[in-house]
Parts: sequence; structure tokens; C-alpha cells
Amino acid sequence: MSEPTARRTIIIGSGPAGYTAGLYTARASLEPLMFAGYASGGQLMLTSDVENFPGYPNGVTGPEMMIDMREQAEKFGLEVLDKDVDSVNLSEHPFRVTVEGEVHYAETLIISTGAEALWLGAENEDLQKGRGISTCATCDGAFFRDQKIIVVGGGDSAMEEALFLTRFASKVTIIHRREGFRASKIMFTRASQHEKIDILSSRQVKRWLGDDSGLKGAVLMDPRDGSEHEIDCTGAFIAIGHRPMTAFLEGQVDLDEEGYILHTKNTMTSVPGVFAAGDVVDTRYKQAITAAGMGCMAAIDVERWLENLHAA
Ligand code: NAP
Repeated sequence: MSEPTARRTIIIGSGPAGYTAGLYTARASLEPLMFAGYASGGQLMLTSDVENFPGYPNGVTGPEMMIDMREQAEKFGLEVLDKDVDSVNLSEHPFRVTVEGEVHYAETLIISTGAEALWLGAENEDLQKGRGISTCATCDGAFFRDQKIIVVGGGDSAMEEALFLTRFASKVTIIHRREGFRASKIMFTRASQHEKIDILSSRQVKRWLGDDSGLKGAVLMDPRDGSEHEIDCTGAFIAIGHRPMTAFLEGQVDLDEEGYILHTKNTMTSVPGVFAAGDVVDTRYKQAITAAGMGCMAAIDVERWLENLHAA
């Protein structure tokens, strides 16, 4: 039986990490193929203005930046298919990537599927997403200058987001669903001692208030007795954690207990020839610029790994 034709590299996922890996591998003549997903572009497609990516002095919208990154990589030969990968088989080389029942083969893989922020799923949340409710204070905090903001969550992310938001907001209220906090002591103390921050524990957001013109507040419920009261706010940030997009990798590559891919050496995963970049490995920074940087690193690692493979 003839050997299947394998791509030198297949990139799975299309945020800043994937597109940067695409640009670098295309310029290295590796003829990369990317499965960008049905909803290509990743988290930045949900972001309004990006003001912290160097090179855009007047800012840029997240979707525009993703279109630019894609166009730049395609110009050098990245082939992009807007399809979701169903599964991978990394136990054989070349690796197998199954997409809509079709099997594609690759000598190396770059996984850059990202992590999606968790949402609460409270009533009216969909209406207010991108208006007054966000999952990224670094991205959207500056739009809420001198306004009342709430932050939902009781972990380090919620504390960090709340502290960051004090730069803009007139007042920040942290809403947490129970009495105990998961946040580290130092972060909790810093937040609870800040003059602009109030903390309301044992409160759940039941419903968002507002209309097409924006967010006006939220109905909070005390789970101990079911009582409800309203809080005014024109901005809300959900900081209840992220879920890495690695369900399709289970059993194939080493993941941490939360499902993030583990690097072994540089950007390589536990499977030699399989590399990972961006939020799918990043439990700490989660920025467009750090993801793009890691995409570049993965592309360079792929190039060197292939050089060794073909020199052998
Ligand atoms: P986390 O520690 O898992 O905390 C998530 C918080 O969201 C918890 O308080 C949880 O409540 C709450 N939550 C989860 N689902 C909820 C829901 N449906 N409704 C209401 N509340 C909900 O996540 P994280 O804060 O993103 O932190 C993740 C990791 O990154 C941690 O290891 C953290 O230490 C680290 N981190 C570190 C820093 C730093 O050091 N500067 C900053 C950010 C993150 P319960 O407690 O009731 O489950």
C-alpha cells in the first residue's frame, strides 16, 4: 500500500498563535495547512477595540486584527480551511487529523485551539455580551471610565480584574457565589483593602438588567435564603475561569488537570513532533501578543524538528 501524502505541518486553531505560526511556517516554505474552526479567529473575534497590541497606535478591533493576520499569512501561502477538527491520532507517524470524516496526514502539528472564557449563563446575558458584559478586563476595562462595574468570581482572576478595573471605574463590586474565596490570600487582601472595591459574597447573578442601549444592572440572589436585590452597574466582567479547547486531544497528549496542554521542551508537547502555542497552554498571561509570540516559537521549533527528521 502506498504511503499517504503527509503535510509538513498542520495547524489546528486560528487565533493570534495559529496565524503567527501559519505566517512563519509559510515563509519557511513548509506549505502549512490550517484548520481554523467554523468560528475562526478565536477570542479576539469577541473583543471590541484592542489597544495593547504594539503597532496599532490608534487601536484596532479584534476581528479586524484577525482578518489582517489571516491575510498576511495567506499571502505567504498558508492554506486555511474553516472547519473543526473532529479527532487526532498521534500514536502513529505521520499524525492523523480527522475533519468531517476525511483523514489528513502531517509530519508535525501545531495546536493553537485556545481557551474559551466561561460565561455565567444568567438571564439576558447573550443580549449584553459585547455591550456591557465582557470576560476580559485588560481588553475592555478602559471603556468603562468613571462607571460602576461588577466583577463576578472569587478566584485570583476576579481579584486581578477588579484591581485592574479600579484604574477606570468609579466603583468595582466583586460578586462571589459563596462565603469562601478561592483567591490567594495576598490577592484577596489587596482587593478587599482597596478603597474603590466592595465585596459581596453569597450572591449569584440571576438576571442582567438593560436593553439595546446597554447594561443597567443585575438582579442578585442570596443562595442562603433565596432573597433578591438589584445592583446598579453599566459594566460587568465575568472572571470565573477558562476552559481550554482540548476535548479532542484527550488520551493523545499530556494535559494538566484543567485540560491545558503541557509543554515538555520549548513548545513541544509530550508527543515529539506535536507542538502547542497560545492560550491552550497558557494558564497565566492569555494575551494576544503572548499568543502570537508563542506561535512564532512553535513555528521555529517545527522547522528545526523537521530539519532533524529529514537529516536522520
Ligand atoms: P479559579 O481559581 O478556578 O476561580 C474561579 C472562581 O469562579 C471561583 O471562585 C468559582 O467559585 C467561581 N465560579 C466558577 N463557576 C462559577 C459560576 N458558574 N458562577 C459563579 N461563580 C463561579 O479561576 P481563576 O481565578 O481564573 O484562576 C485560575 C488559575 O490561574 C488559578 O490557579 C489562579 O491562582 C491563577 N491566577 C493567578 C493570578 C495571579 O497570581 N496573579 C491571576 C489570575 C489567575 P467557587 O470558588 O465557589 O468554585
